[in-house]
Amino acid sequence: MLDADFFRRWMTTAAASVDREAERLTALDSAIGDADHGSNLRRGFTAVATALEKETPDTPGGVLILAGRQLISTVGGASGPLYGTLLRRAGKALGDAAEVGEEELAAALRAGVEGVMTLGGAAPGDKTMIDALMPAVDALGTGFAAARAAAEEGAAATIPLRARKGRASYLGERSVGHQDPGATSSALLIAALAETAEA
Ligand code: ADP
Ligand code: MG
Ligand code: MG
Repeated sequence: MLDADFFRRWMTTAAASVDREAERLTALDSAIGDADHGSNLRRGFTAVATALEKETPDTPGGVLILAGRQLISTVGGASGPLYGTLLRRAGKALGDAAEVGEEELAAALRAGVEGVMTLGGAAPGDKTMIDALMPAVDALGTGFAAARAAAEEGAAATIPLRARKGRASYLGERSVGHQDPGATSSALLIAALAETAEA
């Protein structure tokens, strides 16, 4: 079973990974966006880590809701409200249980991804974070390592796609040939989950 401490470690592992990879995320966003994805998420996840040091929610749902709220309030770009919705919606789905199973986590993340699709209007294949998140959630039933691999494959598979949502869609055909920054950061988030489970 996964407790609040597991979820806190997931978020702090994600924050460290975003901090390490911020330059790469910004470089990807400079090709098909406005070169701020790394700095946006670094600001957001630093706020998440700080908030989780001050407050220590005692449920998995509480951790994800707090993290989502920080992302919404500190990230200026499109990705803030979208990632915030992912985590808040997942947190709400977990309710006030003190511990949750892997199946409940998978169902909660699915609800979160559906929330992101409702908010942003993106579907799989639109070259967004959904292209990494959806395959990860589908694979989570098989285990954390499978989810991580699926997210990484999903992010790489955005390269030949033409963007249909977000800033990159303004480029039309010129968005082809570049990996989507948000799908890349989503793969980092899922990799942090797998890392936390393996630790
Ligand atoms: P901004 O585009 O406002 O500068 P970021 O650079 O932080 O925001 O985030 C860009 C990423 O957000 C994209 O690479 C994409 O994955 C994701 N994104 C943008 N719009 C949407 C949307 N409508 N639905 C899902 N994801 C989106
Ligand atoms: Mg950007
Ligand atoms: Mg921006």
